[in-house]
Amino acid sequence: MLRQKIEAAFDKLTREGWFAKSDWQCCQGCGWPAIPTDFCGPIAFFHEQDADQLDMVNSNPSCCIAFGHSDKTPESTIAAGERLVAALKAEGCFVKWDGTENTRPTVSLHSS
Ligand SMILES: [Zn+2]
Repeated sequence: MLRQKIEAAFDKLTREGWFAKSDWQCCQGCGWPAIPTDFCGPIAFFHEQDADQLDMVNSNPSCCIAFGHSDKTPESTIAAGERLVAALKAEGCFVKWDGTENTRPTVSLHSS
């Protein structure tokens, strides 16, 4: 299932020193400020509204993953996005991302 794959990727990233959380707050507006201010490193999460999509019973659920870096530079943010996408793909997810800091990667089980 997609949720398990994403959570497996988040577990791996957490062991690498990320702040990577499932069901993190209700939305991005609440999610970002709730990250501990003393955390330094890359960040990824999906929030409860994203999780509604994720838990929908259909053949290809999808979920957008918010990502960033505590230092907020474009370089660190994009590097975090690239690592996040690689970790999700390593778990067998299909990931659609344009490679920019302003777009969240969309994760699903397969391309269609
Ligand atoms: Zn909220």
